[in-house]
Amino acid sequence: MGQATESAAGLSVSRGLVLVVEDDRAIADLVCMYLRREGFGTHVETDGRGALAAVRSMRPVAVILDVGLPVLDGIEVCRTMRAGGDWTPVLFVTARDDEVDRVLGLELGADDYVTKPFSPRELVARVRTVLRRSEGVPASEVLEVGGVRVDLLKRRVWTDADEVMLTSTEFDLLAHLMRRPGQVFSRQQLLSAVWGYSAAAGTRTVDVHIAQLRGKLGSSSPIRTVRGVGYAADSSGTSC
Ligand code: CA
Repeated sequence: MGQATESAAGLSVSRGLVLVVEDDRAIADLVCMYLRREGFGTHVETDGRGALAAVRSMRPVAVILDVGLPVLDGIEVCRTMRAGGDWTPVLFVTARDDEVDRVLGLELGADDYVTKPFSPRELVARVRTVLRRSEGVPASEVLEVGGVRVDLLKRRVWTDADEVMLTSTEFDLLAHLMRRPGQVFSRQQLLSAVWGYSAAAGTRTVDVHIAQLRGKLGSSSPIRTVRGVGYAADSSGTSC
């Protein structure tokens, strides 16, 4: 069941939506507060079944998963995700040493864990580390797809001839697509990754920003519309 979805609206750069699965409301609220302060969008679920539904519908960039949950416990949630081919980074929250042993022993592809009581600041730092790891270390900080070159560190973009001025959101959207050339992203996935919005937000936002990007990049634009699915960046680059 969906509860208290809050996005990072108002911040110029979002780090994406984090799903917090925790049946202790006070802990969930505290964790969300710290995540939002760091620019993440947040959504809370309080049982395992709701968590699985939210993972499927919202495509969070990471999941903070309490082990002791009603209905399905955190370990079952992670096992089900992995069995379905979902490798979204999972950070487990454990209450006891035997839970740590279970998390580590089952080879669930858990990316990290913290033990209660934990410092929310430390938890958010772990989330950032897990995300950096899952993005992989780029061989170069400069990406090039089709006629567009992006410097990820300096946040600058060039087409064949000229530097192009993008807004912060346009840059994040373009960089997200170009980091995985050829991979097709749904509008919902882009909303979650770039804006930190949950399923409640309108996907029209994505179309508007894609149109603006194409306008600025002109004939060099590597962004391809995949009808009925979403968008990809690749060197075939034909915009439609
Ligand atoms: Ca619990």
